[in-house]
Amino acid sequence: MDTAIAFKNVRYCFGNVCALNGVSFSVPKNSLTILAGPNGGGKSTLIRLIAGLLTPDEGVINGSGMAAYVPQNLNFDISFPVTVKELVLMGMLSRKIRPFYRFSAGQRAAAEDAMRRAGLSDIADRGIGQLSGGQRGRALIARALVSKADIMALDEPDASLDTDAARSLYSMLAELKSEKTIIMASHHIGGVLGIADNVIYVNGTTSVYYSPDEFKEKRGGGIA
Ligand code: ADP
Ligand code: MG
Repeated sequence: MDTAIAFKNVRYCFGNVCALNGVSFSVPKNSLTILAGPNGGGKSTLIRLIAGLLTPDEGVINGSGMAAYVPQNLNFDISFPVTVKELVLMGMLSRKIRPFYRFSAGQRAAAEDAMRRAGLSDIADRGIGQLSGGQRGRALIARALVSKADIMALDEPDASLDTDAARSLYSMLAELKSEKTIIMASHHIGGVLGIADNVIYVNGTTSVYYSPDEFKEKRGGGIA
């Protein structure tokens, strides 16, 4: 088994509030892992550690590659002057700002391909402030798709979606598994278990279940 991400006894505190302690797990490449658990349990903190935005106070995180991060509650300003196509293209830029950069024909083709796969071709020129929640989630995933990242860390991308939009997001993620390792925090356990390989229950520390069935068996119905 090729490991994509491994945590060894990781601890992370915000001042004297320790969000996570004693966190150890590993997930294989090209698997889809759901982070479940109560509000304040530490899911967003775990995602941000994976994305490299936070550094552990203790312990070690080993990753096989870069992670693309899709944050929680990302509300674009209505007037934010960026189109879907531009948002996706920007996923290819490195973090360094390069003035007068021009995207190559190959990069533009890759962006078109990612938008097609995300069902966004018809709205490529729409401003991101005008998108529905489902379209916004898919635009961010298309952006992550064109990046070189092997890992996608998604923080509740289904939070404000209706059932149909959530279902189309899940089927898109299930398809992406063949090329990316996906870690996704979600409150809609019932909906996501069908596409999950692993479930990590996060509540200050982590309990890891290496199949949805094991999770259901051991945690029973007391999960939301
Ligand atoms: P979840 O995503 O599961 O709701 P979080 O990772 O957001 O949980 O939060 C875990 C804990 O860390 C909570 O107790 C929360 O209040 C605390 N926390 C999160 N972010 C901050 C912050 N920037 N400063 C202080 N405490 C924080
Ligand atoms: Mg959160």
